[in-house]
Amino acid sequence: MSKILVVAEHGNGTVRKATLTTLQMARDLAAKKGSSIDIAVLGHGVGGVAEALKGYGAETIHVADHADLAYPLAPTWAKVIADIAQAADADVVAMSASTTGKDILPRVAARLEAGMASDVVAVVDTDDGPGFRRPMWAGALLADVVIDSDVWVVTARGSAFDAAAATGGSSDIEAFAADPAAAASRTRFVKFDATASDRPSLDEADVVVAGGRGLKSAEGFSQVMEPLADAFGAAIGASRAAVDDGYAPNDYQIGQTGKVVAPQLYVAVAISGAIQHLAGMKNSKVIVAINTRDDEPIHKIADYSLKADAFTAVPELVEKLAARG
Ligand SMILES: Cc1cc2nc3c(=O)[nH]c(=O)nc-3n(C[C@H](O)[C@H](O)[C@H](O)COP(=O)(O)OP(=O)(O)OC[C@H]3O[C@@H](n4cnc5c(N)ncnc54)[C@H](O)[C@@H]3O)c2cc1C
Repeated sequence: MSKILVVAEHGNGTVRKATLTTLQMARDLAAKKGSSIDIAVLGHGVGGVAEALKGYGAETIHVADHADLAYPLAPTWAKVIADIAQAADADVVAMSASTTGKDILPRVAARLEAGMASDVVAVVDTDDGPGFRRPMWAGALLADVVIDSDVWVVTARGSAFDAAAATGGSSDIEAFAADPAAAASRTRFVKFDATASDRPSLDEADVVVAGGRGLKSAEGFSQVMEPLADAFGAAIGASRAAVDDGYAPNDYQIGQTGKVVAPQLYVAVAISGAIQHLAGMKNSKVIVAINTRDDEPIHKIADYSLKADAFTAVPELVEKLAARG
């Protein structure tokens, strides 16, 4: 029988939303393919993560707990994931199309000699059985693809799937004797410098405020964007131009070569709306554009457009939001 192995993403001992959206994609696929679902939890001291996933309808949760797996280094994680998939006889391996998933799963596909569909936004029926819908050319086209190999490897775009709800029940939790050293990785984890922030992460925020090159400098960016983010309890994003010009850090970038988000509210401040930027945010529920020009592409997809100078309009907006309490 077909079995889908979902690789969990977690941080600080908690399950990330990316795990649940991948689980939803797996459920959609399982319904078409007649599969059962297992979950793989890799890391160090991750018993609590496995416990937290017990009620989501997986048959077995495979836990690979090892000091060498504490950080998701692609060569070692890929080796252990492939080992778990083979031991569990899984014919599909799925993970989020997050930065981590994009790094690891192609290596899993290579190890399993599997075909891969990446950045999947829907599971579809095709003449050749279950297939996957995925964007191409910065989202200008959607392609339906099928995988011909015996084993399939899939990454799921988090913003395209709801987070799977708990179903009750209780999965079996099984320890997997991982041997990360066998990956013979020539990469060694040294340290992880996390950006200290009380704001929600871009992938999980309900509101994202993003700034562009029109903010003119790093000082202009933080002066305009930080109070706006605080007023909404939002995550801050940026266009690539703002990142390239050094106004905002790399991990703020939204778009084709950055993160893909679909929050309830997206406020684009001084962003023109190039196709590569739209690829990362056009599925947001409500889009607001604040721009000095009214003929920029961002206005074509915005639900609300404000033709105004961000340096005066945004502080006014923040003041009004504060007055509303
Ligand atoms: C292969 C490839 C991949 C790419 N990937 C990405 C990606 O992932 N993400 C991404 O964002 N881009 C990406 N780009 C770059 C993209 O093509 C654009 O260059 C970029 O998005 C432009 O950023 P911007 O809108 O901030 O800047 P600009 O296009 O320069 O727009 C600035 C905007 O600010 C407005 N403005 C100026 N002053 C003010 C003011 N005071 N108040 C309000 N508005 C003001 C202007 O009217 C203008 O609309 C990619 C390009 C390529 C070729």
